[in-house]
Amino acid sequence: MDIKATIALGGNPNSGKTTLFNELTGARQHVGNYPGVTVEKKEGTYIHDGHEIHIVDLPGTYSLTAYSVEEVVARDFLVNEKPEVIINIVDSSNLERNLYLTLQFLERGIPTCIALNMIDVAKSRGIEINEKKLSELLGVPVVPIIARSGYGKHELMTSAADLARQKEPPLPLKIAYGSDLDRTILEMEKEIMDGDFLTDTYPPRWTAVKYLENDDLMLSKGRKENVQLSEKLEKMMDKVSEHLQETIDTYPEAMVADYRYGYINSILKQGVISRKDDQNRLYTSDKIDRVLTNRFLGPIIMLLVLMGLYHFTFTYSEIPVNLCERFFSWLGDMVSANLPDGLIRSLIVSGIIDGVGGVLGFVPLIMFMFFGIALLEDSGYLARVAFMLDRVFMIFGLHGSSVMSYIISGGIAGGCAVPGIMAARTLRSPRERIATLLTAPFMNCGAKLPIFALLIAAFFSENEGMLMLLFTLIAWCGALIVAKLLRLTVIRGESTPFVMELPPYRLPTFKGLAIHTWERTWQYIKKAGTVILGISVIIWAMMTFPRLPDSQVPESDSEKAMAALKYSVAGRIGTALESVTRIAGFDWRTNIALVGGFAAKEVVVSALGTAYSMGDVDPESSGSLADTLASEPGWSPLTAMSLIIFIMFYSPCFVAVICIVKEAGSWKWGLFSMIFNTTLAYLFAVAVFQAGKAAGY
Ligand code: GDP
Ligand code: MG
Repeated sequence: MDIKATIALGGNPNSGKTTLFNELTGARQHVGNYPGVTVEKKEGTYIHDGHEIHIVDLPGTYSLTAYSVEEVVARDFLVNEKPEVIINIVDSSNLERNLYLTLQFLERGIPTCIALNMIDVAKSRGIEINEKKLSELLGVPVVPIIARSGYGKHELMTSAADLARQKEPPLPLKIAYGSDLDRTILEMEKEIMDGDFLTDTYPPRWTAVKYLENDDLMLSKGRKENVQLSEKLEKMMDKVSEHLQETIDTYPEAMVADYRYGYINSILKQGVISRKDDQNRLYTSDKIDRVLTNRFLGPIIMLLVLMGLYHFTFTYSEIPVNLCERFFSWLGDMVSANLPDGLIRSLIVSGIIDGVGGVLGFVPLIMFMFFGIALLEDSGYLARVAFMLDRVFMIFGLHGSSVMSYIISGGIAGGCAVPGIMAARTLRSPRERIATLLTAPFMNCGAKLPIFALLIAAFFSENEGMLMLLFTLIAWCGALIVAKLLRLTVIRGESTPFVMELPPYRLPTFKGLAIHTWERTWQYIKKAGTVILGISVIIWAMMTFPRLPDSQVPESDSEKAMAALKYSVAGRIGTALESVTRIAGFDWRTNIALVGGFAAKEVVVSALGTAYSMGDVDPESSGSLADTLASEPGWSPLTAMSLIIFIMFYSPCFVAVICIVKEAGSWKWGLFSMIFNTTLAYLFAVAVFQAGKAAGY
């Protein structure tokens, strides 16, 4: 290392910076003031293995906001002087509070080495710190020292010098700030990167978080750099700020702090700190966590909560779902009765009402599910679920944060793989990220839910809640096993240590729950009214054309509709696939629906609706789609089960594939997920169907 290397000592006031500084520099120091302010600036040199290192004692701060002169000075120093390394001195007898600043150095992307100071004090208070574990979880060197006696200073400087020698700066730490803020941060990051906004100075995510914190220094700097872009970012921040006010009655700054402490909380919970005496005060959240994340009670409670959620969803949504179904079937009858027979009527009734209606009919169910999930999320319980599952996830070569991806994708039921795939961005290791991207679409997203609900209603109406739990477990087991397979073959490598933010529990407000539920429900409705409508019409057209030539129209009425459907493009595709799919139990009409599902999973229900209403000769006797399927001779509970398994695992929908391609950075993984997943799903479905048949179902 050359003489110019600068190492800054940063830390909270009274963490022992000056003591360490004096211990390191001895007589080789001089004291002045930082330019323009009366904050003391101490500089000196330390000789390490014959090399001179320039050392600066930064003013003590608790954070990197801009509330005090000290903070501003420390920040300016980091920007202007760009020290090679920062030695972050933390008071080990007060670790939780001290790590708050540490996280900000790491988020800022500065090469950091932690000096775990005052271990003598900690010891005398019965506090034991596992520095190896801490180092592993934070991904930075941690050296225990006693600044007052000089103990550990040589090891510390060796670590710091090693760090200074590294050519690649470390990747900035990414902390998740909850789904609302994270979404905005991602959007902001994109703007920041596209506009090359302050990217020479700060990691894009840091800039985004600073905007959310409404940081004066960053705002004025940003306005100087690019007024328009800065204003755009400010607007984004205002929008999410309003949203937070409305939903959980808080503001972004508080939320950021909550999640940073949540991150620290998660680190400390993983055996980093142990206290001999247990008389330290416990916050309410810690007390709740003692029960809810208890090694034995925790998983049991988690299962009960999930079962409760499914029970609640299916029981209470039954009446409104039935009403919706009846409404759409009434609407279909009405239109049928008032329009002359022909293409237009067929388009409106079979294409639009049966297609889109089939999807919209499940709005109440989706809404109940979203409400339950919003309750778990807003209260902070969802983060604990991820925390508890990490131990399991490690075994399968995944990461605790993958849990969040799974949950967002529909791990509890009723999410969407697209935001789930994007959530995988917080994963540090590219291998775990790809394994997560590829397996998150196995979860039971909001589009698969109606298919399951339909099939459950038609064939297993006895135990809805239990079956939904079973399907959830199957999806998770499948995803984990596939992840393990991938991690043992195409994406081999070590697992990275896990930290998952555990923000404090809070009592959700009804208003907040209502807004969160409605937002997601509205997205679902919007999709039904746009994408699904479009695809439904296309599929209707494929099921209608080419029309059966008159010479081939069968004599009997009951065969007419069926023959026409079979003659159409879709019918031909479905029939062509039948030889392959028959061993899984799918006939050509199911195939049509499944092919449609490549575009969007919602289409499966709508295409089944269209296919069965088109094949239906006697409109008077047509009940709901569930009744139709239940009375169809080709269908049995076994067919339904095999179909559910296939739908759970086959190719992600088109949008999700695009998203995988973007996130994994290569077309290869998108293609892989389509082909691999479909093959796998097919094998599973065949296994279920054939085993069931052999067992006599
Ligand atoms: P600064 O505000 O970060 O510069 O902290 P100081 O260097 O002024 O230290 C604050 C107090 O902690 C002083 O009284 C130091 O003597 C004491 N101190 C610093 N390091 C240690 C240590 O390792 N062990 C003990 N017991 N006391 C320490
Ligand atoms: Mg000092």
